[in-house]
Amino acid sequence: GSTIGILGGGQLGRMLSVAASRLGFRTVIFEPGADCPASHVAQAHIQASYEDAAALRRFAERVDVITYEFENIPTSALDILEALRPIHPNREALRISQDRLTEKTFLSNLGLTTAPFADIPDAAALDGALQTIGTPSILKTRRFGYDGKGQARLSSPREAAQAFSDMNGAPAILEGFVDFSLEVSIIAARSQDGQVSAYDPGENVHEGGILRTTTVPAKIPARLQTDAVLLAAKILNALEYVGVMGVELFVTPTALIVNEIAPRVHNSGHWTQNGCTVDQFEQHIRAVAGWPLGNGERHSDVTMANLIGDDMDRVPALAQDGACALHLYGKAEVKPGRKMGHVNRVTD
Ligand code: ATP
Ligand code: MG
Ligand code: MG
Repeated sequence: GSTIGILGGGQLGRMLSVAASRLGFRTVIFEPGADCPASHVAQAHIQASYEDAAALRRFAERVDVITYEFENIPTSALDILEALRPIHPNREALRISQDRLTEKTFLSNLGLTTAPFADIPDAAALDGALQTIGTPSILKTRRFGYDGKGQARLSSPREAAQAFSDMNGAPAILEGFVDFSLEVSIIAARSQDGQVSAYDPGENVHEGGILRTTTVPAKIPARLQTDAVLLAAKILNALEYVGVMGVELFVTPTALIVNEIAPRVHNSGHWTQNGCTVDQFEQHIRAVAGWPLGNGERHSDVTMANLIGDDMDRVPALAQDGACALHLYGKAEVKPGRKMGHVNRVTD
């Protein structure tokens, strides 16, 4: 059997590793941290920094193909790895999604609708951007933001200068505030021979910037469901993408607006583990390994709820609930805001 290398040892890497094992693959995790969720289930864990060229080479030489569970992989590491083994999804997908400005420019060039946005390289650019975009708006760092970190909501132009200086010089974008009725995401996959398959869109609820629940089916008209599938396929095809991608969307009365894309399996796709024959993790492994995609049709209604921090206190009760499938990440320490697991509540 062959071996799949996974960059990143968090819960996504763990669930990818489990899916790979089910298909007879071995996995090697590359992760600087010790005792990470993925290392408990993978065949091997190379614990080293992304600056360690020798360790990166050792990792690549042990695997047949490389994938990843997060998008902020340093370019220098990718240069080393790419010379040795194929990386899926490809570097263009990573380059585009690592930077909100590149990402939104790519999406709007594809003809998709995004929030109005402007590049804010420095404080001087703020005034002009506020005149075109106005408030309410959101200032976001171009790179490294997640779970709503690195963002400031502006209700008036007077707040802009302070918000930008709080970002300590990080390049940013200003985004117009979208008055959406709900948030959905679509998880889609593309195989090496160009087959595309999308899961049903899920409806997302965030709390404090962190995903709280995803529910399928999403309460959106059939027309918008189809639009979501088509726009996801357009993105994957444009990138000649291989693997699973998460696309976050805002639903407005008139259209779907693309918020951001993630070139990996996605938290809002965890419901597929108990709602579909082939879940997003297996689908990703299939694509990366050059297999045909599996059946991603939804057979049940599901609500996925993240177990964050003290939510872990609910586990004993959830364990007795016949409608619930628990997925725990094996993290030793409970911390506020830390994703410890999730629960899929399934109904027919
Ligand atoms: P993630 O953890 O999903 O990667 P993130 O930190 O990259 O999140 P975004 O997805 O850009 O951040 O924004 C977080 C949330 O803030 C969105 O899910 C949405 O609820 C809200 N939000 C972001 N941008 C806008 C916008 N332009 N208009 C209205 N709400 C927005
Ligand atoms: Mg994001
Ligand atoms: Mg997001």
